[in-house]
Amino acid sequence: MSDKGNGVMDATKVIRPGGTIGVLGGGQLGRMLALSGRAMGYRFVTLDPTPDSPCGQVADRQITADYHDVEAARALAEESDVITYEFENVDADVTELLMAESYVPQGSKLLYTTQHRLREKRAIEAAGVKVAPYAEINSAAELHEAVTRFGTPCVLKTATGGYDGKGQWVIRSLDEVEEAYETLSRAKTELVLEQFIHFEKELSVIAARSPRGEVKTFPAAENIHVNNILHLSIVPARTSEHIQQEAERLAMQIAESMGVIGLIAVELFLTEEGELFVNELAPRPHNSGHYTMEACKTSQFEQHVRAICNLPLGSTELLTPVVMGNVLGQHVEPLLDWIVQPESEQQADGVTAKVHLYGKHEAKHNRKMGHVNVLAGSVDEALQWIEASNIWKTNE
Ligand code: AMP
Repeated sequence: MSDKGNGVMDATKVIRPGGTIGVLGGGQLGRMLALSGRAMGYRFVTLDPTPDSPCGQVADRQITADYHDVEAARALAEESDVITYEFENVDADVTELLMAESYVPQGSKLLYTTQHRLREKRAIEAAGVKVAPYAEINSAAELHEAVTRFGTPCVLKTATGGYDGKGQWVIRSLDEVEEAYETLSRAKTELVLEQFIHFEKELSVIAARSPRGEVKTFPAAENIHVNNILHLSIVPARTSEHIQQEAERLAMQIAESMGVIGLIAVELFLTEEGELFVNELAPRPHNSGHYTMEACKTSQFEQHVRAICNLPLGSTELLTPVVMGNVLGQHVEPLLDWIVQPESEQQADGVTAKVHLYGKHEAKHNRKMGHVNVLAGSVDEALQWIEASNIWKTNE
C-alpha cells in the first residue's frame, strides 16, 4: 500500500499544483476537468475502456481498461495524488480499493447514496429539502395501491442505473400497472413510484464544498429538455430572484448536510405555486453547469479541482447572461458548416457563441458531442440567436 493510502478526507491536506489528479472515466466531463486543471498546473491520468477517450486525449496519460478492472484501478491509485470520478456508477469494490490505496476526498458514502434513488431521496429529506412524494415498490400489488393513492399520471423509476429518462415509465392509467411493473422489474433493482409534478420549469444548481468546509453555489440554471436529453440551460433562469436564491440555498443545505466534497448538481422542479422539489442529485460536474465555462468567474471544472485539492473556492459570480445549447450527433454537421463561415456571418451584434467539442470519434444520433455557450446582453437575445441558427434545426 502506498503512503497516500487511507483515502478518507483530511481537512488540512492540500494537493498543490504539480500533483497528479486521477480521473475515473474518460468522457467529456473528465476532458473539461483535465483542460481546466492542466491550466492550473496539475497533471492528469484517466482510466477508461475506450482508447483515445475524450479525457485521454488531453490528459498526461490514459490507462485503457474496464472500470471494474481492479488491477487497472490499482495502477490509477499508484500514479495519482488524488482521485475523482466523472460518473456516479462506480463499482463498490473499485471505490474501496481506491480509498485504501490512494486519496479520494469525495469518499464512498456520497456515491453509495446517489447511486440509488431511494437512498438519495432519504438523504435529501434528511437535509430538510422536499422531494416529490414517492413510494418504494416491491410488487405489482404495491404499485397498484400507490398509483391509486397518488393518482395518475405518476412515474415509475428503477432505483439504480437510469439516466436521461431511461428506466422510467409514466403511468397514465391503472390499466398500465401490470405492464409497467413487469417491464421495469426486469432491471432487477428496486423500484420507486413518484407523484407526477406538473412543473412550470426545471432548474438546477451546482454547489461546491471543500474539505476545509467552504461552500459556494453557482447561479441557478433553467433547463429545457428535448426527448429527456438536456437541450438548453438558460442563466439567469427566467424566474424571480427569490426563487433563484431559494434554489441556491437548498443546494447549499444539501451539500452541507451530506458532507459533500467536490461538486454536487441538484436538479429541481419549480411548480406554478413557487414550490421547489428536488428531482435528483449528481455528485460531479454536470451538463447544466457547462455555461460556467465562459459565463462565470470560475468554471464548474476549476471549482471541482479547487474543492478536491482543498484550494480556496473561486468566485461563482455570473459575468454575462448565457444560454448553453447541447450539440448532439445530429447537430455536428450544421455546427461545423457554421464554424467555418466568416466571423461577420457567425455572430449577431452583441452575441458571442463559444464552441466546445469533446473529440468523440463517432457522431451518433442523440450522443453528446459538444456544446455552445451563447453569451449575450440578455438571455432573450441568446435564445433568439439559437432560434435563428441552423445548428439545432434537427432535434429529432
Ligand atoms: P430523471 O431521470 O429522474 O432526471 O427524469 C428525467 C426527466 O423526466 C426529468 O427531467 C423530468 O422532465 C421528467 N420527470 C422525472 N420525474 C418526474 C416527476 N416526478 N414528475 C414530472 N416529471 C418528471
